[in-house]
Amino acid sequence: MLPVDDIRKKLLTQRRNLFRQVAQTEDELLWLETDVESEVEERGQEESMVRLLDRLDGRAKAEIEEIDRALFKLGTEQYGRCEQCGKAIPPSRLEAVPAAALCMVCAQAGENQAALRK
Ligand SMILES: [Zn+2]
Repeated sequence: MLPVDDIRKKLLTQRRNLFRQVAQTEDELLWLETDVESEVEERGQEESMVRLLDRLDGRAKAEIEEIDRALFKLGTEQYGRCEQCGKAIPPSRLEAVPAAALCMVCAQAGENQAALRK
């Protein structure tokens, strides 16, 4: 069984670090220090998040989306399962990349395809 709380913490830290790169005002930095998970509904925080999201580049945005998806799946059977082939993703991979949505084989196949397209 995977330590859900540890993974959640890791994911939230990753997410925060991504946002931190583009945080500029005190408000935004403050928002990053608050518990993102419990208070997301609050209006002011949501505005900060939208502003920060705007400044992130495509790659960072994709990473945040991946992290959010993983957080959403965490605690369900879907977490830790490859979205492509449905096989369990090895815990060692999840430890290194907690937001991983694909197993190593499928992730590599995807990268090869992307490389071919160039
Ligand atoms: Zn797979």
